[in-house]
Amino acid sequence: MKKHRITLIPGDGIGPEITEVTKKCIGATGVNIEWEECEAGIPAIEKYGEPLPKETIESIKRNKICLKGPITTPVGSGYRSINVALRQIFNLYACVRPFKVYPGARTSYREIDLIIVRENMEDLYAGVEFEVGKPETLKIIQEINNLSEKEIRQDSGVSIKPISISESEKIMRFAFEYARGNNRKKVTAVHKANIMKFTDGLFLDVAKRVATEYPDIEFEDRIVDNMAMQLVQKPQKYDVIVCPNLYGDILSDLCAGLVGGLGLSPGVNYGDEIAIFEPTHGSAPKYAGKNIVNPSAQILAAILMLRHIKEVESANRLENALSKVIADGRFTTYDFKPEGEQGVSTFEMGRAIIRELGE
Ligand code: NAD
Repeated sequence: MKKHRITLIPGDGIGPEITEVTKKCIGATGVNIEWEECEAGIPAIEKYGEPLPKETIESIKRNKICLKGPITTPVGSGYRSINVALRQIFNLYACVRPFKVYPGARTSYREIDLIIVRENMEDLYAGVEFEVGKPETLKIIQEINNLSEKEIRQDSGVSIKPISISESEKIMRFAFEYARGNNRKKVTAVHKANIMKFTDGLFLDVAKRVATEYPDIEFEDRIVDNMAMQLVQKPQKYDVIVCPNLYGDILSDLCAGLVGGLGLSPGVNYGDEIAIFEPTHGSAPKYAGKNIVNPSAQILAAILMLRHIKEVESANRLENALSKVIADGRFTTYDFKPEGEQGVSTFEMGRAIIRELGE
């Protein structure tokens, strides 16, 4: 049996609990994985004095595959997002998030099965920001006020939204290739081109051009606000949705809500060589160490990882076991229950999945 060496980052907050349960579930499929466990986030600061140590970066570089738990980003101060840093260091330009309704999940929607492909490198998340009052900020405001008909106030902070032809082409080709490779029928490009003509407009122009190279895949576009409403009203109509960074982030959480919550939404960040698999949700600090959160998103991320490393049978068995536990409903966490009702613990749900795998 092939042995895989994979970097595992438990992360912080609820990360260590859900990655531990996930590791046990993967172990129970019999797949042969040697985990290289590495720190990032709060435990890394405690151990190495920095949130993203070079040991962790080297391990991902070596193994090319990483299963990652959530990592806290302090709001407004402290270090910048480790999640964004990892995407930028390894050029993980495409984030893929599948959203599927598992019967038993706390949702009234049925038959949703859609994919959000989010551009990961550009847009307002590029990290080109200027703090209010700083000399460089005043300089850039001055320069823009000289060049533009519009005026930016002196007491502004400035975040830059770059969207390039090259990166938009890359994400569009990725979305169409993904659709082709996964037997999907339609790609929908999301934008706000009516307002931001030179960034979202460019994204849309590229989308339309790339779409002509894929006549076998249906193509359409939607303005982001309309898309948000359409997703709530008729999500079944959508298949592969491709978005610039910010809209992809927001619509992902909206879709997570449709399928029963963040606890059921996994994601992958792909570069040309490296892939990092993670849940869509964050580190939920208020639940850290309480052993009550839903491990499913982390397990679903691991299932995507198993498919990626061609351990398809193990992936299918694990998905089957997880969906049976969700449908059965006796061994699920609080977020599957009616408001205010308690669920089983994170580890108990994991044990139920392992029992299903054994049957
Ligand atoms: P969050 O996703 O951590 O939690 C929001 C709420 O969603 C929680 O309070 C909880 O009610 C619910 N939730 C999340 N995961 C759950 C699970 N597995 N089971 C059951 N319920 C769950 O979002 P937040 O509170 O905005 O962010 C907390 C921290 O996580 C922040 O520092 C943020 O920057 C970070 N974050 C990290 C990632 C990542 O590592 N990729 C992603 C998003 C946010």
